[in-house]
This record gives sequence, C-alpha cells and structure tokens, in this order.
Amino acid sequence: MTLLTFRFAPSPNGELHLGHAYSALLNQKMAKAAGGRLLLRIEDIDTTRCTPEFEAGIFRDLKWLGLGWEEPVRRQSEHFAEYQAMLERLIEEELVYPAFMSRSEIRAFIADSEKRGRDWPRDPDGVPLYPAADKALPASERKRRIVEGAPFAWRLDVDAAMARVGRDLTWAEYTDETLSGTRHVEARPQDWGDVIVARREIPTSYHLAVTLDDALQGVSHVVRGQDLYSATSVQRLLQQLLGLPQPAYFHHRLILGPDGRKLSKSLGDTGLAAQCKAGASPDDVRRLVGL
Ligand code: GLU
Repeated sequence: MTLLTFRFAPSPNGELHLGHAYSALLNQKMAKAAGGRLLLRIEDIDTTRCTPEFEAGIFRDLKWLGLGWEEPVRRQSEHFAEYQAMLERLIEEELVYPAFMSRSEIRAFIADSEKRGRDWPRDPDGVPLYPAADKALPASERKRRIVEGAPFAWRLDVDAAMARVGRDLTWAEYTDETLSGTRHVEARPQDWGDVIVARREIPTSYHLAVTLDDALQGVSHVVRGQDLYSATSVQRLLQQLLGLPQPAYFHHRLILGPDGRKLSKSLGDTGLAAQCKAGASPDDVRRLVGL
C-alpha cells in the first residue's frame, strides 16, 4: 500500500496566525488518524515578500504548537530548475504565451470595454480576467519584445489547455475530515482565465509550484483552507497537462477574525507569536480553533 502523505505549506511572507495553526494541526490530526505522514513545505517563490525572518518564525511557531513533520523540509526557492523544466514543456507545447500588458494597460483595456457597455468577467476572487489580447501577437513580435527586455509573464492559454485535455475534469473532495467519503467536483479552470504560470524573473507561479511539488513529494491528501477551493481547478488542469498524479482534497473551514473576515497576515492578536507572548499555551490555541 502506498503511504498516505499530507502536507502543510505556508508562505514566509508574514507571521503565522490562528488560521495557519488550524490548518497545520488539522493536517497533523488527519495524517495521524489515517496512519500517514506529514510534510512541511516552505512556499517562498516570491523572493520580494518572503524573508528568512518570517521563515524562522514559521519553524519557531510550529515547534511551539507541537507540530511534527518528516524531514527534509522542501523549500521552493531551491527548486527553480525543476519548475523551469515544467515551464519549458508548456512553452514547447504552446500551452502558455508571453503576456506583456502591464497592470495599468489591463485596467485601461477593461475600462474601455466596460465603457462600451460590456461587463468584464471576473475570476472567483473578483479580479478581472486577463484580456488575452497578446495571444494574437505573431511569434516574431513576441520574440522581438522578449529580446528587447520587455516585462512579461507566461500565461496559460486556458482554452488551448482545455482543448488539449479534451474532456471534463473533476477532482475528489472529501466530504469531511474523517475521510469517509468523497464527492466529485467539476474543475472550472476557465473561471480564472489565462492565469500566470511563470514570470520573466521567476520560472514559476503559485499554481505551477504547488502542482509540481505535490506530485514530487508524493502528496496524496491536500488539506488546506476553503479559500483555495476554486484554485484547485487550475491545479487539476496543470496535473492533467503535465501527466502528474492527482491527490484528493479536503478544503477546511476558515478561522475568521472578530470582524467575521478571513484572518490576514497583518495580525493583531490572532498571530501565534502574540498568543504565545500573551501567555497562551498550545492547548489554548487548539481550543481557540476548535480542535
Ligand atoms: N502557500 C499557500 C498559503 O500559504 C498554501 C498553498 C496550498 O496549501 O496549496 O496560502
């Protein structure tokens, strides 16, 4: 039988809060109940926002909480060559294209279209979809701009990708944390439009790195917050395009702040370090998050 593998994958771009504690502890609890293992992955591809200090804080807070994980810890910034290889496959297969529009150009394009009475589609997070005007650029023009050093991002041509897959995609979502049953969820990557798969300076994006890492680390169970439920559609599509195995998912409830909103990394007293400093014990944290 293959080993059941769970993972907790924080980004060191801020301090951990109660929401992270819940996710980490739930992964630990589910892995234990299933007789599986728990891995820790540091998602630090955003080299401008991630810092060694935040990373040290993650280790400190998780150890304090009593989380145990199997070594080695995978740090994404050490694996750019692996992401690059995947990106090159997508480039060769013409499933991604260089997108040159800047944020202000995108805004102007959309405002112009909306002036003409057309509601611009938005992704599940409420962000307007990329206009995809660059898809029509001839190869020679793309090359010229890249050689000249124009800023760009590699975007997935979602229509081409879905056509390549040629069938409906679904993923298995556990109905609760006891892993007693799953339901099949239809993946709708088109809802996100042409997402960024890599940047000029960084050969990956959140979606590409997570998809590849879950496969390379043999993750069979992705347990993470409900806020990433819709993102699973894009990751499911990338798995299919790259011939990677598909994990099963459980998207757990979110811990909300006193204002009823999702916790953010600009903390207040929901930060784990602040809880510890104020004299809370790891058991107090468990109680606070309902575990
Ligand atoms: N690194 C992501 C975050 O901190 C989580 C990614 C995932 O669990 O798939 O929100």
